[in-house]
Amino acid sequence: MYERLRAYEGQAAANSGVGKDPVNEPMIRHWCEAMGDAGSAYPATAPATMLQVWTMGGLSGNAGRTGVYDELFALLEEAGYTSIVATDSEQEYFRPLRPGDRVTFDATIESVSPRKTTKLGTGYFVTTRMDVRVDGEPVGSHRFRILKYAPAAKRSAQSAAAKERAQRPRPVVNRDNAGFWEGVADGKLLIQRCDACRTPRFPWLPGCGSCGSAHWTAFEASGAGAVFSYVVMHHPPFPAFDPPYAVGLIELAEGVRMISNVVGVPYDKVRIGMPVELEFLRVDAELTLPVFRATGDTGAGASDSDSGSESDSNAAAHGKGR
Ligand code: ZN
Repeated sequence: MYERLRAYEGQAAANSGVGKDPVNEPMIRHWCEAMGDAGSAYPATAPATMLQVWTMGGLSGNAGRTGVYDELFALLEEAGYTSIVATDSEQEYFRPLRPGDRVTFDATIESVSPRKTTKLGTGYFVTTRMDVRVDGEPVGSHRFRILKYAPAAKRSAQSAAAKERAQRPRPVVNRDNAGFWEGVADGKLLIQRCDACRTPRFPWLPGCGSCGSAHWTAFEASGAGAVFSYVVMHHPPFPAFDPPYAVGLIELAEGVRMISNVVGVPYDKVRIGMPVELEFLRVDAELTLPVFRATGDTGAGASDSDSGSESDSNAAAHGKGR
């Protein structure tokens, strides 16, 4: 295997690639803002560490790629080294880049390490060097290293025991939300409603996001709702949870939304618009949580295409008071 991988050393991963955009002030400004660098000399010159930015192909990729990198990766994947992590990079700068500079680059697979075992698993480090030029003159080089690896066995006996002990996180109960948890203990899902403007709100907050009033009354939700949106969690693993699982954003009949588990339906059958009904899940001796059970047709329901629509009344009832 190593001999086959080593044959890629010195091969070109990109030939005469051309930067998608010339070095330019808007990208420099965005970068500086993202880095929290507000008051520097930029954008007269680009920050040197932006070197790689000017070579990135974006979603549509770069002309100039040779396919060698993909080939090497396919070889590693086939051999079971299916995971990847970027480990480190090194850059050298030969001269500053200025707005208007047009960057070209060549990339070479510089080295493939012998097989190594790390905490993550066993695999190979692949180092790629990118030589960046402007008008044929070298302006910098960028070397980056990834580890392509077969993940270590997920669960030792020890971590299985840790999982056994792992508990769902406890809610943080404070003065502002204590009433909600008292309701849960009582088998009720309580929502606040503003005494001044009647806007319902959830999660519990001391003041109304619509009018600012600090006066409110709690009332019990009917328990009817629908999946407004959802995500399926695959990663990262968290000891008390067993991925994959669906996390739903449930819109209650009262117009507020809350995040909870959708139960009674496989994680990959949860759909936007799916009707759900409140129930209380006793997680352990100290913890009971409101969750939502899918009702009716739990097969192929409403399509995802009706997401994102949001009535005015709902808009008024959520997203406030954060
Ligand atoms: Zn109000």
